[in-house]
Amino acid sequence: MSNYFIRFFLNLISFEVLKSLSSHKIILPLYHTVSDRRLPHIENLYKVKTIAEFRRDLDFFLRNYQSVDIKEIINSTKDGHKFSRPVFHLSFDDGLREVRTIIAPILLEQGIHATFFINPSFLDNKSLFYRFKVSLIIDALKRFDFSDSILNKIKSCLSPIDGSSVQRQLLNLNYNDTDVLDEIGGLLNVSFEEYLEKESPFLSIDDVHWLISKGFTIGAHSLDHPKYSDIALEEQIRQTNCSLEYLINQFDIENRLFAFPFSDNNVTLDYFNHKDLIQNYSFGTSGFKEDKIFSNFHRIPFEHYYLNAESIIKICHLKFLIRKLNNSNFVVR
Ligand SMILES: [Zn+2]
Repeated sequence: MSNYFIRFFLNLISFEVLKSLSSHKIILPLYHTVSDRRLPHIENLYKVKTIAEFRRDLDFFLRNYQSVDIKEIINSTKDGHKFSRPVFHLSFDDGLREVRTIIAPILLEQGIHATFFINPSFLDNKSLFYRFKVSLIIDALKRFDFSDSILNKIKSCLSPIDGSSVQRQLLNLNYNDTDVLDEIGGLLNVSFEEYLEKESPFLSIDDVHWLISKGFTIGAHSLDHPKYSDIALEEQIRQTNCSLEYLINQFDIENRLFAFPFSDNNVTLDYFNHKDLIQNYSFGTSGFKEDKIFSNFHRIPFEHYYLNAESIIKICHLKFLIRKLNNSNFVVR
């Protein structure tokens, strides 16, 4: 179904009716960044909202929900407190530069709370997230002509899947394929180090101190952003604990909040029950699904579609109501 028909269909449905039918009082919208500039390291991965689009999303949230601190969300599950009116709490993953230059100033102007989940390995632009390398490689392939000999070398680095394009194969690479990405970057003369130095896509340690001084919450997002289903359980625990310990030592954070990189899909009960795990609360991306782990909250991604906030929330309510009918509104562990 095209975006036009999705929007047309959603416009026929009343937000108020859906909201009252599904009875969800808390929403946790998830973003990464906001920019009017082209961001080659992200452009081929997901849709970045413009400043105007982001402001329109915020207007929608403020009209329909009250912004609350993350502590209020956490306490509501501890003491069973029910909010008298619907509430929202924003979060932003990956610790990107625009958090300081664009997002936080807008949120401060509007009095909106937020939590920023950051990866210590990327802070101060020390290294580049492997998915950003994928986007930069695709960007180079789109913008420049390369010889057949180089293109053939790239194809030989990838594991060919029947009929899939080089772009699709690049997007399918995972955390364990970082060496392949470095090799392809070298073949195309794409210098990831130079990009980090020139573009500074990530926040600095000073930026994070500034965010804390302005009343925002900071949480961890693993050391360097592996998909947890791609790594062993002991490595999952190490990534979570080391990233939280870094934030405790560097920024003296109060609550040990952790957002799973990508999502918590296929993260098992062995992880949540692990004796060494130091997180207090964690965050996945399953929207209105119910989770048997009460300390694991679910957020709603707002960058996956060319849709505004109201349409995305409507889709969440609809999915919830359909799953309820099928008795399938649970996160499988
Ligand atoms: Zn992330």
